[in-house]
Amino acid sequence: MAKVTEAPGPLGQPCWVTSAADNGHGYAVMTYLGGTAYVHRLSYQLHVGPIPEGMQLDHLCRNTRCVNPAHLEPVTAKENMARSETVGGRAVRTGTCKRGHSLDDAYILRKGRKCRTCQRLYQAGELYDVAFHSQNAKKRPDLTSA
Ligand SMILES: [Zn+2]
Ligand SMILES: [Zn+2]
Repeated sequence: MAKVTEAPGPLGQPCWVTSAADNGHGYAVMTYLGGTAYVHRLSYQLHVGPIPEGMQLDHLCRNTRCVNPAHLEPVTAKENMARSETVGGRAVRTGTCKRGHSLDDAYILRKGRKCRTCQRLYQAGELYDVAFHSQNAKKRPDLTSA
């Protein structure tokens, strides 16, 4: 396994920051059994045990290069998305668009939700875009019912 350096993090225990290569999305990866594997997933399996089928590991410390198993929690893809700091994650978590409008009455499209308030302001010429929260129906079918 790649070199790991302890670094202070937001949690009580320090983060274990790995020196492994970056996959381009902030996650450390390494060659494993002829393929490419996420180092944090290997670390969890090594120290804790098997990751339940279909589960993702959420970084409780929000440091995606951290491989401290104490900072990793198996969650569903839906839960991981809701916890993330992306616009989509915010929409799932707070039920508001990027401008803070409620998405309760948003237009439900096949690919996601479109903010109705933004749409109204857009048509009135007050906005240049409409907040849209894509929910990849193909990859994450469970999000469409959220
Ligand atoms: Zn950590
Ligand atoms: Zn809006």
